[in-house]
Amino acid sequence: MTRFIKSDENDTKASCRRVMLNEYLNERKNRRRCEEKKEKCDVCNEMMKLNEKKIVKNAIQKKKRRSLMQNERELNLMKRQKYDSQQHE
Ligand SMILES: [Zn+2]
Repeated sequence: MTRFIKSDENDTKASCRRVMLNEYLNERKNRRRCEEKKEKCDVCNEMMKLNEKKIVKNAIQKKKRRSLMQNERELNLMKRQKYDSQQHE
């Protein structure tokens, strides 16, 4: 389900106010959003917040997944060690 949601597509759909204005004035068509260091318009501000949330969410998910994998690995290791010690007895 989540495969249908691509962040890149969302980004290009949302239109920056400055870019819209620039396109209207026929200037700087290559730009997609406000420049990093300059004050952003409300659209870019909102997108930035959304992106930050997404990044945090992804980081948490990644961390969770990693710890789960590690738990599994440790469990397997414990099982193997137990098995080995049983073999030696
Ligand atoms: Zn903007």
